[in-house]
Amino acid sequence: MPISGLPPYDDTNIFARILRGEIPCKKVYEDDWALAFNDINPQAPTHVLVIPKGKYCSFADFSAAASEAEIAGFMRAVGKIAKDLGHEAPGYRLLANMGADSGQEVPHFHVHLFAGRPLGRMLPSS
Ligand code: AMP
Repeated sequence: MPISGLPPYDDTNIFARILRGEIPCKKVYEDDWALAFNDINPQAPTHVLVIPKGKYCSFADFSAAASEAEIAGFMRAVGKIAKDLGHEAPGYRLLANMGADSGQEVPHFHVHLFAGRPLGRMLPSS
C-alpha cells in the first residue's frame, strides 16, 4: 500500500529487475532482508548499494511502511556489510537519496555505502 503523497511502487525499476534476477548484478551480500551489489558507476573504490527485498520506493516509504523486522533486518545488513568489507576503520559513508532534490534516480529505496579513500565534504559547497 503506497504511503499517502508518494507515487506507487514501479515494478519495472532497475533494482526490482535485479531482485527478480532479470538482470545481473555483482552481488556483495544477500540475506532475508537485503541484497547488496556493486554500483555500476562507482564514485569511490568501494561503492556498494544495499536494497531491501521489499517493494519500497524511497526512504519515506520504507521508514513508514516496512515492518519492524524488515527495518531491523535491513539496518543490520548495512552494518554487517560495512564491517565484513573491512571499512570500520578508517571509515565509510552511508547515503540515501529521496526524491527529486536529492537526485534519486532509481525508485527503489537503497543505501549507498562509499569507502576506500578520504571522502571529502559531506555536500558540495554550492
Ligand atoms: P540514486 O541516484 O541514489 O537513485 O542512485 C542510483 C544508483 O544506481 C546510481 O549510483 C547508479 O550508478 C546505480 N545503478 C543504476 N543501474 C545500476 C545497475 N544495473 N547495477 C548497479 N548499479 C546501478
